[in-house]
Amino acid sequence: MEVKLLEPSWNSGVSIINLSQSEILSRGIKSLLLDVDGTLLPRKEDLINNSVKDWIKISKNYFNLHLISNNPSRNRIKKIADQVNLTYSYKASKPSRKELLNYLTKTGERKTEVAIIGDRLFTDILAGNRLGIYTILVKPTNSDGLPYLNSKMQRIELKIASLFGAMKK
Ligand SMILES: [Mg+2]
Repeated sequence: MEVKLLEPSWNSGVSIINLSQSEILSRGIKSLLLDVDGTLLPRKEDLINNSVKDWIKISKNYFNLHLISNNPSRNRIKKIADQVNLTYSYKASKPSRKELLNYLTKTGERKTEVAIIGDRLFTDILAGNRLGIYTILVKPTNSDGLPYLNSKMQRIELKIASLFGAMKK
């Protein structure tokens, strides 16, 4: 596997609520594909925190938004999507590009104008990089919307990626 594929275009170092919309806009991005579990809320919770809702609300002024989750439960992802009135794909099998391509085909949007935002290198970032869209790594979110700093998963993934030579400064 090519190392570059594990490297996000932007390793933000923050959870989604602190991602700057104007920074994303400055890259010419018009649409955001959002991962769900870990990115919008912890996997074990059902309700999106108000701070995350606010971020989504503001983002709707600037971007088309679509949820794209690997979670196999349509029920869960629909319930979450309904809280923020967004369209969604579930069971997406990222790092497969399939659902991302489906989205592009359906909307007719250009690759250069679409970004994916997620908390996992080996699913979200890899899927986006394989497709050739802009990729943004965020810290996993806590129930309060703030970053979950002790995320073992992300630490391990970053470590593995750096062992393979990604993320070189
Ligand atoms: Mg996730």
